[in-house]
Amino acid sequence: MRLEQHKDCSHFKEIHKSLEPATIWRVAKIRPDSLSLMKFLSRLGCKKPPEQPALCSKCTHQYMHIEVVHPLFECPFTDSLTRLQTFLETVRPLSAPLHEHLNNSEPATRVLYLMGMIDDVISDLMPIELYPEFLINCANFLQSVLAA
Ligand SMILES: [Zn+2]
Repeated sequence: MRLEQHKDCSHFKEIHKSLEPATIWRVAKIRPDSLSLMKFLSRLGCKKPPEQPALCSKCTHQYMHIEVVHPLFECPFTDSLTRLQTFLETVRPLSAPLHEHLNNSEPATRVLYLMGMIDDVISDLMPIELYPEFLINCANFLQSVLAA
């Protein structure tokens, strides 16, 4: 019985993960110029974590997360952590509470925020009309991280 419940749970997570966040498309509608960036976030969000450890071509370490976590937080061959700090400073003028919230969140969670995959607490942290600008900045940042 417990195993069945567990299976159902992981099955649901799998389905849930493949759902595209409506937030991304709402932003694309409000800011049509952001469509390609939002498509980029959507593709990133729909990627599954690797089932086998993936190999980083820069540091040759293996990692199991969605691809953006490794270059952002782990890879010793990037300056992404510095760039992330710089990026987070651009969040502060939009919303100091969101800036603080992001600074205090776990790396994997932080990435989900930057990908527009978590939006349920955003409205508590920033004026919602600023959210499109935030997410567009995030998409630009993540693109530059993956291109580096
Ligand atoms: Zn690496």
